[in-house]
Amino acid sequence: MSEAAEKPELNRVYEVPKMKGPELRVVRLKGGQMIACQVISDTFFGVEIHYDSRVRRSEPCVKPESACPGCQGKKPKKILYYLHVFSNHHGQCFVELTHATMLRVTEILEGEPSFRGKCLELRRTAADNGRMLVKMCETMVPRTNLPKPADPENTLRYLWEWGRK
Ligand SMILES: [Zn+2]
Repeated sequence: MSEAAEKPELNRVYEVPKMKGPELRVVRLKGGQMIACQVISDTFFGVEIHYDSRVRRSEPCVKPESACPGCQGKKPKKILYYLHVFSNHHGQCFVELTHATMLRVTEILEGEPSFRGKCLELRRTAADNGRMLVKMCETMVPRTNLPKPADPENTLRYLWEWGRK
């Protein structure tokens, strides 16, 4: 017997493979939770979704309507908004905002040409579906030193696909 047969060669790995899945996570605030963050995005990413309250999960609304299972099933629609942010607690992430919260953020930042660099404190009242309190804070890092804004589309597509299995 040859030496190779007695001692099969190991399948060595010479690089650390990236984990499967999105690089930036989506943060959804539950009741009583807060996030203090600095916005990296220039503007929000808004998307219509269908929410199925029986299974408590969302699926994207797609065009055309005839190709959207949610529209065909007459599932209720809502809009969700995402901002690429940095927080000391979560690092870089996408924070998910409801329509009411996004409205409040745009009111606070009214007249600002871009969200980038703004510091926000978002705090949800006790219930998971509770109101979100929005406060503007002192800027932490100058705008020009922030990372490049990221688009949440691939992350969201991944999450939607993932939840379905
Ligand atoms: Zn739809």
